[in-house]
Amino acid sequence: MSAADTTPPALRTVEEQLGDVLAAVRPLAAATVALEEAAGRTLRAPLRAALDIPVFDNSAMDGFAVRFADVAAATGDAPAVLRVVADLPAGTSDDPRLGAGEAARIMTGSPVPADADAIVPFEDTAGGLADSLHTARVLRAPARPGVFVRRAGDDVHAGDILLEEGTVLGPLQIAAATAAGVTEAFVSARPRVAIVSTGSELAPAGTPLRRGQIPESNGVLLAGLAAAAGAEVVARLSVDDEGAALRDAVSAARAASVDAVVFSGGVSAGAFEVVRAELSGAMTFSRIAMQPGKPQGFGTLPTPAGAALLFGLPGNPVSAAVSFEVFVRPALLALQGRRAIHRPILQLPAGAPWRTPEGRRHYLPAVVDTDRDGSWTVRPATAGGSGSHLAGGLGRARALAVVPAEVVEVRTGDPVAVMLLEGWDA
Ligand code: AMP
Ligand code: MG
Repeated sequence: MSAADTTPPALRTVEEQLGDVLAAVRPLAAATVALEEAAGRTLRAPLRAALDIPVFDNSAMDGFAVRFADVAAATGDAPAVLRVVADLPAGTSDDPRLGAGEAARIMTGSPVPADADAIVPFEDTAGGLADSLHTARVLRAPARPGVFVRRAGDDVHAGDILLEEGTVLGPLQIAAATAAGVTEAFVSARPRVAIVSTGSELAPAGTPLRRGQIPESNGVLLAGLAAAAGAEVVARLSVDDEGAALRDAVSAARAASVDAVVFSGGVSAGAFEVVRAELSGAMTFSRIAMQPGKPQGFGTLPTPAGAALLFGLPGNPVSAAVSFEVFVRPALLALQGRRAIHRPILQLPAGAPWRTPEGRRHYLPAVVDTDRDGSWTVRPATAGGSGSHLAGGLGRARALAVVPAEVVEVRTGDPVAVMLLEGWDA
């Protein structure tokens, strides 16, 4: 063998690997569904308002609907005295006529009579609420016509784009759409995902462990992360390192036309790397300049309905979690047509020093200390360092600290890029 043959190939960058992943993404089908079924799904067309918001001119205050001209000169010394000719509670459809010197008692949100052009709150009258059904003695003139009248369409006009394509429909978005009279939405299908854990050392959660076994935990990890990214997890399997069970799992996933299979374990350079051994045709195995997560496999598999993305993540739980964040989550969001596929990055000062690997970008499970005075800092989630085998420390992590490849040491106070994870404020 020549010397050149023994030189390991250069590590690929995260961006190169992610570029390959995203290039393989074909957005999933979209369909119109009832709004209440659209929670967590991604809009694939702009969502337009069906109604104005506010729906009609309504009062912003409890008080009196008046004709501005009647009260324009009112003062404490010279009150304007109005005859109350109607009472307008919330939900009323009345539109009483108001002649000169007349007013209607009105509650917040009630429709403003067509003849009124201002609202005088109870606070600006002599009698307030207590004496409000016969006479209103107005002690202070409204600043201008239209005061305290919320005009129809002030916020949104029917036909306006309420939510952009690529927006995920959370409770706030569904509420806004509902307020605008919308009852259905054109949204992406959910990615159908199979999770396949590999390793002959893995025992189902809760079973007694013989020497050499550990509880299988990547299954719940990756299934939960996939669901949080909008996916439907259609299968969760654990297979040994022999090959037959893995081949069966792949056949089943193909037959079910899943959109993605997320494997964990069996992708590095050991003796029993089952994903690598069985799928080297469909997947490419690479070494990425990141820690954890250096060994990664990625490829595609034709299915009866299209193609499945195949992700081969390293098995260490910290490596699997980080790899999911970096490669799988963006792909699942891109499949759904999500506008923002990357987590926002925050710059926070380090609250403690730590060492980081040279030549590889470091993704460190981290804790964000949120001081009440607003000065936040970031520190490692595990006292024991950054080892990818520290599965327990993962439970404390609320964020990933991202340190560039060329940095070898983070000192207290250094600015650090931080990705906040789901439930970061828990
Ligand atoms: P591998 O990438 O297959 O070499 O796995 C590396 C290490 O990660 C194994 O030795 C296990 O300690 C751990 N590991 C792999 N798969 C899982 C899993 N599904 N659940 C928990 N730990 C795992
Ligand atoms: Mg293994």
